[in-house]
Amino acid sequence: MQRKKAHIDLRIENANINRGIIVLLTGNGKGKSSSAMGMVCRALGYDMQVAIVKFLKGVQETGEDIFFAQQSNVRTAFMQTGFTWDTQDRQYDSKKAAETWLVAEKYLADDSINLVVLDELTYMLNYKYLDEKSVISAILARPKNQHIIITGRAAGESLIKISDTVSILKDQKHAFKANIKAQKGIDL
Ligand code: ATP
Ligand code: MG
Repeated sequence: MQRKKAHIDLRIENANINRGIIVLLTGNGKGKSSSAMGMVCRALGYDMQVAIVKFLKGVQETGEDIFFAQQSNVRTAFMQTGFTWDTQDRQYDSKKAAETWLVAEKYLADDSINLVVLDELTYMLNYKYLDEKSVISAILARPKNQHIIITGRAAGESLIKISDTVSILKDQKHAFKANIKAQKGIDL
């Protein structure tokens, strides 16, 4: 235990860099977007300024959408279209994705914003609704102390490469598979 403590103390001492980081939450398990929203709560506790951009916003409003709408430190941009794979109009979806990305770019250029959440961004890149190179450049060019959280299944190599913290959530069980409806406060 003593040796272990010394080792951990040294690692804490070495962790002396202070800068904005990129957190990537991917994989098929539940907990990506809700974890991002948990970090938003943490940031708000410190009176930080937060921007939430939701790509692929579902038809269903979530509890956090309702809650954060009342928070003066949170600004939001929602891609105003349903699920991309449901719609047949790729051109329309691309247009909406581009419009939403324009707002995201503004947040990424604003050094008064401490945390930017890019929820479900992975799909925009995987389905080529947004140009990956421009997205990556804008993220890398953000203010030095701004944190980014990216969520979505199947994150590509380039997102993994630029991220500082990467968690892959694994799907072991999900209530939905036992025919349990999406539950308020848990799923939405
Ligand atoms: P959450 O927002 O709950 O953290 P998520 O962001 O990890 O979920 P998404 O792929 O964005 O997952 O899906 C969002 C919705 O789908 C939520 O209602 C969530 O409970 C549900 N969901 C997530 N993972 C699974 C799964 N493996 N099987 C079935 N439904 C799932
Ligand atoms: Mg999600």
